[in-house]
Amino acid sequence: NYVVGIDIGGTKIAVGIVDEEGNLYDNKIFSNDAQSPVETKLEHLYSMVHGLINQTMFSRDRLLGIGVGAPGPLNAKNGVITCPPNLPNWENTYIVDLLQEEFQVPVVLENDANAATLAEKWIGAAQENNHFVYMTISTGIGSGLYVDGNLVSGSRGNAGDIGHMVIDPSYGPCTCGQDGCFESIASGTAIARLGSTLIGESLTTKQIFDLYYQGNESITLFINDVFTKIGSGCVTLINTFDPEKIIIGGGVSKVGNCLFEEVQDYVSNYALNPEGRKTEIVPSGLKQNSGVIGAAALFFQKWM
Ligand code: ADP
Repeated sequence: NYVVGIDIGGTKIAVGIVDEEGNLYDNKIFSNDAQSPVETKLEHLYSMVHGLINQTMFSRDRLLGIGVGAPGPLNAKNGVITCPPNLPNWENTYIVDLLQEEFQVPVVLENDANAATLAEKWIGAAQENNHFVYMTISTGIGSGLYVDGNLVSGSRGNAGDIGHMVIDPSYGPCTCGQDGCFESIASGTAIARLGSTLIGESLTTKQIFDLYYQGNESITLFINDVFTKIGSGCVTLINTFDPEKIIIGGGVSKVGNCLFEEVQDYVSNYALNPEGRKTEIVPSGLKQNSGVIGAAALFFQKWM
């Protein structure tokens, strides 16, 4: 039996087939049309999923359902993507109803970071942990809070939206209306925006990190400041939730060791509790696949 996992992000949509052991078949499909109108994206999404199901060696009647992870705020119970700041044209999309109608199988929806958190617990970097935070640094910043053996959901299912904790108001406005939110300083989008302003030309997040690795002076100062901000975000989470580890995933985590070393260093100096200072800062155990596997895990409820 298998499930289709769909990970809707601010930059890309990833779709994959996942079996009951968490194996992701390597015919994962990406789409990069995040900014096109929702009708176009939905049609593209349907054809990606149909294509994937048709290609698979599994027969159609072994498809148990479709799990969807999407950026918050959303209403998982009603299956609605409500008003995500990084996906403005998906506002009030009844994604569960739409997919159920198209594919005639059960569909479940969860916040994308929460889904990835469950994947890390199931077969990723947190299999042995009952207290951890999964942080995604991608188009925005989000998290899943796994505390005392449970995923914290909150009264409306929107707990963990750490991208909008205020880190430093002097950075100015965030899309949400506050000043100095975590994701307006340290997300992939923010790094590209702020770094491009420093250099005076439009560069991608990866190009900014290339300059960092080449030793560009102003970019080095800037990226070190970003790492400090991610460190202070982690310290806030450690002081609040007392996790054993913080897993950092998402596109920006592809920059590798420098991120983990600098953030670990910050945490080991500034977490309040001497024990908290030992909190491990680690990469995802599932590389860039925790979103798709987590969306499927929702369906299997396998992390329990
Ligand atoms: P989504 O937000 O759609 O889930 P990702 O998790 O891939 O997508 O995150 C996208 C962000 O990650 C973008 O800001 C992109 O520029 C950045 N990114 C992707 N690859 C890299 C890389 N190798 N190094 C640094 N940043 C990257």
